[in-house]
Amino acid sequence: LSDRLSGVFDKLKKRGALSEADISAAMREVRVALLEADVALPVVKDFIAKVSEKSIGHAILKSVTPGQQVIKIVHDELIAMLGSGEDEADSPGGFGGQTLPLLGVPPVPVLMVGLQGSGKTTSTAKIAKRLSEKDHKRVLMASLDTRRPAAQEQLRVLGEQIGIKTLPVIEGQMAVDIARRAMEAARLQGFDVVMLDTAGRMHVDDDLMREVIAVRDQVKPVETLLVADALTGQDAVSVARSFDERLGITGVVLSRMDGDGRGGAALSMRAITGKPIRLIGTGEKPDALEAFHPSRIAGRILGMGDVVSLVERAAETIEADDAERMAAKMRKGQFDLDDLRSQLRQMKKMGGMKGLMSMLPGMGKLTKGAPKLDDKVLGRQEAIICAMTPKERRDTRVLNASRKRRIAAGAGVSVQDVNKLLKMHQQMSGMMKKMSKMGKKGGLPSLPG
Ligand code: GDP
Ligand code: MG
Repeated sequence: LSDRLSGVFDKLKKRGALSEADISAAMREVRVALLEADVALPVVKDFIAKVSEKSIGHAILKSVTPGQQVIKIVHDELIAMLGSGEDEADSPGGFGGQTLPLLGVPPVPVLMVGLQGSGKTTSTAKIAKRLSEKDHKRVLMASLDTRRPAAQEQLRVLGEQIGIKTLPVIEGQMAVDIARRAMEAARLQGFDVVMLDTAGRMHVDDDLMREVIAVRDQVKPVETLLVADALTGQDAVSVARSFDERLGITGVVLSRMDGDGRGGAALSMRAITGKPIRLIGTGEKPDALEAFHPSRIAGRILGMGDVVSLVERAAETIEADDAERMAAKMRKGQFDLDDLRSQLRQMKKMGGMKGLMSMLPGMGKLTKGAPKLDDKVLGRQEAIICAMTPKERRDTRVLNASRKRRIAAGAGVSVQDVNKLLKMHQQMSGMMKKMSKMGKKGGLPSLPG
């Protein structure tokens, strides 16, 4: 996913001005990339629609670097789709900084469900450990997995390792009966939380569902967590959907986020079920459990490093007055070279190309190979505009061959450089005109002013 996307974004980053065609070409690539990463089709469609609307709308016009702005829009939309983050386990605005929102009279039952090998047993132990150490809860674990030989033993051993009590095993007992016994034991012994680890199957089947539903009806869990392997793609989504439809889940635990997966599963899970991703598993060890941070995952899906803070810096640097004056001009389709010059100056203020580039992942090696991409380009472009008369800046149509030669000489550049700058300006103002027309028709959000 990231290879393709960084290709797309590399192209965008290099563009001074974007056209509608640039954006729709980029969106086609993003779409294919998400599909290749096994994000479900309806999720992809919805995503692309939202991002396109924002990109073609007013949001990018105000930006110094429209290419960056598109990346930021894609990134922000990913975060929105992953969940805004107010219910993350460590956010102060979440459920009181607790691992899980475990409201109710203790002992509170937590039901762990999912396919075989998804990481249920491991996650059960990890969550129990975290609840005990971080939230100071008294936790009892019970394995309801009567199908796999030694599954109950696996949980007991894990419990011993991490110092969490497990319900003693009684051979031959059914899952529902074990669940009932676990709740009774917890009540009698004053436990706060009962973690119920269930059996899984290779595929969702009626047998499995009936069993889990019976357990659910028996214990009435406060949290029903679907454990899903982040490395499985489209499959994980259909699994999530069937568990949610038939059983009703309250959240997702994504295991194996330490693997090579880019987190595409997280996006689909959240979008399809609408249920929050509570926690992520990042290794085999009992400590390898983390709160879910949408912004980190969005960055990971994009493979983008610090693009967002970069774009935020850009937004801060644009002075409000300037932006407003610019917007008014854009509306009239009067973006002249004076405006372009102030844009170039803004870019310099932000630390120039070098500063910008150093914040982008993969750009280090790129700038080595192409040393031309530095502040010199900005300086040269500004020098060209400065070498023009005010009249020329306002209306580039007067620029004939001899005027161009004069300007080139004055700025110490070639006529080609002058032409390149003019072309860039033409592209930008052309797009702005087009957009302001669309704005008037009411088909798109109006321009900022
Ligand atoms: P269950 O069948 O759903 O109970 O799955 P298990 O909890 O037994 O896990 C299956 C395998 O996945 C085990 O070898 C675990 O060590 C491994 N596993 C579980 N969670 C993670 C994780 O977050 N990262 C990695 N790398 N391995 C994990
Ligand atoms: Mg298991």
